[in-house]
Amino acid sequence: MKRAKKKTITRVAAGAIAGLLAGLMLFGLVADLFFRVSASAASQSDVDALKEKLEDQAAEKEKLQNELDSIDTEKATVKEQIEALDAQINSTEEQIGLQNDLIDSLEEMIAQKEEELAEAQKKEEEQYEKFKTRVRVMYEQGETSYLEVLLSADDLSDFLSKYEIVSQIAEYDKNLFEELKALKEEIAQTKSELEEDRQQAENVRKELEVSKSELDTQLANRSQAMKELESAAEEVKASFAEIEAEEDAINAQIDKIVKEMEEEAERKRQEQAAQGGGSTSTGTTQVGGYTYPLPSGYRYVTSKFGYRNHPVTGVYKLHTGVDISAPNGTAIYAAQSGTVIIAGYSSAWGNYVVINHGGGVTTLYAHMSKILTTKGATVSAGTQIGKVGSTGYSTGNHLHFEVRQNGSYQDAGRILGLY
Ligand SMILES: [Zn+2]
Repeated sequence: MKRAKKKTITRVAAGAIAGLLAGLMLFGLVADLFFRVSASAASQSDVDALKEKLEDQAAEKEKLQNELDSIDTEKATVKEQIEALDAQINSTEEQIGLQNDLIDSLEEMIAQKEEELAEAQKKEEEQYEKFKTRVRVMYEQGETSYLEVLLSADDLSDFLSKYEIVSQIAEYDKNLFEELKALKEEIAQTKSELEEDRQQAENVRKELEVSKSELDTQLANRSQAMKELESAAEEVKASFAEIEAEEDAINAQIDKIVKEMEEEAERKRQEQAAQGGGSTSTGTTQVGGYTYPLPSGYRYVTSKFGYRNHPVTGVYKLHTGVDISAPNGTAIYAAQSGTVIIAGYSSAWGNYVVINHGGGVTTLYAHMSKILTTKGATVSAGTQIGKVGSTGYSTGNHLHFEVRQNGSYQDAGRILGLY
C-alpha cells in the first residue's frame, strides 16, 4: 500500500515537472532519466527491504524450530514419567486385588468359625437340656438329687455303688461341659486370630489405596503437563505456518515489484518511442556540437558503446557505436556538415553511410531501410541522409551511429548525451 502510494506520487510529480519542462527536451530528458532511476531505485530498495525481512523471518523460524525441539524433548521426558506411573499404578492395583482376595478368603474362614461356634453353643445348650431332663426325671421319680439317690441306699455297699454312679454321672456332665467350653474357646481364639489377619489385610489394602491415589494424582499432573506441552507445540507450529505464509506473501510481493519494474522500463521505452514517432516535427537538436541524428524523441538506447557480446554473432568485441531504437522509416540526419564518403551496402552494416566532417572526424549511420544520399554529396548538419531500418546484422529497427576521430572510435552515445 505504502509503496504503491509512493509510486503514484512519483508519477504525478513526474507528469507535473514534465509539463513545466515541455519543449526543453534536454531538461526533459534529464528529468525523465531522474524519475526513471528514482522509481527503479525505490522499487529496488523495496525489494531489498523485503529480502531483509525474509532473513528476519528465517531467523524467527529457526528460533521457533529450536523451541519446538525443546518442547519435544520435554514431551519425551513426560511420556517416560507417564509410562512409569502407569506401570506403578498397574502393580498397585494388582496388589490391591490380591489383598481383596485375601480378605475375602479370611472372611469366609471367619464365617465358618462363626458357624462352628454357633454349633458348639448349640451342643452345649443341648447338653444342658439333657442334663436338666435327667435331673427332672430323677426328681419326678423321687430321686430329685444326687443326695437323695445316695440316701436311698440300702446299705454301705449300695451307697458306695450309688455314689460311684452319681459321681460318674456328675463327672461325665462336668467333663462334657468342660470339653464344650474348651472347644468354644478354641473356636473363638481361631476366629479372633482370623479377624486380626483380616484387619491387617485391610490395613495393607488401605495403604495401597492411599499410594494408588497418590499415583493417580501424579499421573493426572503429568497428563496435564503433557497436554500443555502439546498445546504449546501447536502454538509454535501455528506461528511457524504463519511465518511461512508471510514468506510466501513477501516472495509474491518481490515477484510483483520486479515485474512492475520490468513493465515500467518497457513503458518508458514505448513512451519514448511514441514521443518521437508521434511527433510530426522533423526538427533537429544540437548536442555538444553535433546535430542529433534522429528526431529528438528517439532516445532509447538498446546497446551502448563498448565491449559486449554481439546480439547476432554472439562474439565478444567492441561495439563501435551506439544503437538507438526507432521505428522503420524514421528520418536519419547528418550529425555535422561534410562530404559523404560511403553510401552503400555491407553484410554487417546493411545500408550505411559514412560522412567525413574534416578535422579527422567521420560519422557512420548503419542498418538503414533506405539511403537518401550518394557518395560524394555535400551535406549540411541536419540534412536527411536515409531512413531507419534493420538491414545487415541487426535484430530490430534501430540506428547504429558511430563517431571516429583520427581513426579511433569515440563513445557516440556519450557524445549525444544519451548516457
Ligand atoms: Zn550497433
